[in-house]
Amino acid sequence: IDSCFDKINEQGTQVFRKKDNQFYLHPWEDLGSFGGNDRTVAVGGEGIYLFDSEGNKLIDGPGGMWCTQIGYGREEMADAIAGQVMRSPYYSPFNLTSDISVLLAEKLARLTPGDLNTVFFTTGGSTAVDSALRLVAFYNNCKGRPNKKRIISRKDAYHGSTYLSASASGKTRDKNYQDFATDIISFIDSPNPFRKPRAMSVEEFRDLKVKELEDKILELGPDNVAAFIAEPVMASGGVVVPPVGYHRMCLDVCRKYDVLYISDEVVTGFGRLGHWFASEEVFDIIPDIITCAKGLTSGYLPLGACIVSDKLMAEMGGEQAKGVIFSNGYTYSGHPVACAAALKNIEIMERENILEHVREIEPYFLSKVKELEDIPIVGNVRGQGLMACVECLLNPEEESPLELDYEMGSRIDSQCQAMGLIVRPVINMNVMSPPLIITREQIDEMFKILRRGIEKAMDELIRDGLW
Ligand code: PMP
Repeated sequence: IDSCFDKINEQGTQVFRKKDNQFYLHPWEDLGSFGGNDRTVAVGGEGIYLFDSEGNKLIDGPGGMWCTQIGYGREEMADAIAGQVMRSPYYSPFNLTSDISVLLAEKLARLTPGDLNTVFFTTGGSTAVDSALRLVAFYNNCKGRPNKKRIISRKDAYHGSTYLSASASGKTRDKNYQDFATDIISFIDSPNPFRKPRAMSVEEFRDLKVKELEDKILELGPDNVAAFIAEPVMASGGVVVPPVGYHRMCLDVCRKYDVLYISDEVVTGFGRLGHWFASEEVFDIIPDIITCAKGLTSGYLPLGACIVSDKLMAEMGGEQAKGVIFSNGYTYSGHPVACAAALKNIEIMERENILEHVREIEPYFLSKVKELEDIPIVGNVRGQGLMACVECLLNPEEESPLELDYEMGSRIDSQCQAMGLIVRPVINMNVMSPPLIITREQIDEMFKILRRGIEKAMDELIRDGLW
């Protein structure tokens, strides 16, 4: 690593960019521009700031990828990780256990709501969702219901990048040139109140979206539907905050038809909405399965978990289940170093009252998001907790406002990066989920730059005759 830093100093950023273009295929790479990218080279971080190889200090607006809850540069994390590497860097989770992984499983069981007490460790969010979906199929096979396999998900959802979790994702632009398990996944509409017909009240819209779930179950046949999967607040799909009561009502529909509810808390878990998990505390539901990752380690190491209710475990287990093996798992399930990072991360969050801090600062953060609405090109802003989205539209006043593409999200991100802020582009939107330790002053700094960035990108469009 030290020699890597020396190379940055000696050879400069361009050399790293060149090697990046030559050797490194990034997630969601546009193959048309592979080899010609100009990525920022991250070399360090402190608190909410990232440092790049050219000596710039950037506010980490998206919190890495919705994950850097406690911020960068925590020595305690380095010590916990290094300590575990020296103690026991690996064990086979197939035939052994580890003190540190057991402690984390117990801790997670205590932090999750209701009877969700059994923890299946994974390597990240996609594998947590994949495991949840495989578990649901396995559960119905155990119960002698081989036809009860259909999964209902939602348009605009993101659940991961394994074959199954990607199949359950509903963002249309991610569906190009890929194959999916279309035979078992069905979709209903996203409950985005901004996209409701103008004449409809939010409550009517909510009832309609819940009815879509019930209609879909009836269309497929309740005997064929295994589970409904939903993010409490859709993240990558554009921070879609559902109408009040939506999740509760969806859960009631699921219960009516014996359909399991999987709450994908990969983003909303670990404080993003001011609680360890949002399902119960924010949305008043106790699901059958919770998936989590990201904030679990604050991104210091990869780790995820699929946490299952006692009820489900009891129904699958018992005497009759002897020899019934849930053959799913990874070499790195419950990796002890990642578990040590997670335990230390949770300890820091507890000691520094980070959840309380999020609840306290949320109204201020959201008021700053709201202020952006007066920029003419901004069509909608929305958010909850410390996650938010700014959406640029062609004509916000129209009944069905059209997306404004022209790579508006990327234009805003580039303008902001030049002024010291990263804001993640998603087509015509920019999403934010800063480290949870962000202060009022830092929020001011962030939104001052974001406003300038949006205005500059807007001027760029006008100058180019595009808007
Ligand atoms: N679920 C949700 C809600 C997510 O936002 C993500 C990642 N953005 C995933 C699952 C997949 O997680 P990972 O990238 O860690 O595999």
